Amino acid sequence: MIYYKTNEEIELMRESNLLVSKTLAYVGGLLKVGETGKKVDKEAESFIRDHGGIPAFKGYRGFPATLCMSLNDAVVHGIPGDKVFVDSDLVSIDCGVVLNGFYGDAAFTFAFVNVSNDAKNLMKVTRESLYKGIEAVLVGNRIGDISYAIQTYCEKVHGYGIVRELVGHGVGRNLHEDPEVPNYGLKGKGPMLKEGMVIAIEPMVNMGNKAVKQLNDGWTILTKDGRPSAHFEHSVAVRKEGADILSDHSFIDDAVKNNPEIVDISIKN
Ligand code: MG
Ligand code: MG
Repeated sequence: MIYYKTNEEIELMRESNLLVSKTLAYVGGLLKVGETGKKVDKEAESFIRDHGGIPAFKGYRGFPATLCMSLNDAVVHGIPGDKVFVDSDLVSIDCGVVLNGFYGDAAFTFAFVNVSNDAKNLMKVTRESLYKGIEAVLVGNRIGDISYAIQTYCEKVHGYGIVRELVGHGVGRNLHEDPEVPNYGLKGKGPMLKEGMVIAIEPMVNMGNKAVKQLNDGWTILTKDGRPSAHFEHSVAVRKEGADILSDHSFIDDAVKNNPEIVDISIKN
């Protein structure tokens, strides 16, 4: 069942998502060669708690950390670990918080300065595809219009692989609500977009084949072909006027501009 939000609830969700965005920006400033994911994760947890929030992923179905941190061929759901970052790492970070009883959920892919040009292009296209999806967020459109826009841009235009096994979702008082928001699909299909829906749109895009597998840690999703993957996510409210993006990647872009070890892949929206 889809829970539609009031304007007041959407404003509370904006607060939750701003905390997520600021946490991701804070994290973007901490990414340094030689640093470990585990250390960054601890800092992110403190940041969220210091701002009155609760890390949403920690303990979710037993997930052990605040951030999902997925390096290189890891697509999503990676566990921050003791391995140190190197200057060619691609680091996808997903963050969720609970604030005022509502979940915020957003993700961003960072890259250290010596990442390949192919990986930079993958990141750029994945990020652009998120906005292609958001452009389809209009009252009266269907979820499939979002899915189709993302899939077409990534697969048809750029020849990348869209992950099928994991999808976006409704978000609100629960981390995962109806409807599912696949990154592949057909125009005009699926649930209709109505005012008050809040959905997390989150393309997961593989440089190579779409196939994925799960690591034996029970969490990390990897590409089967070992090539890199990128992930960007916004939580978006459906308003009369169109999409209202509740999370804010501009904080993250600012943090990246101030971190000489991380590539700036800001795009024009
Ligand atoms: Mg997320
Ligand atoms: Mg999500």
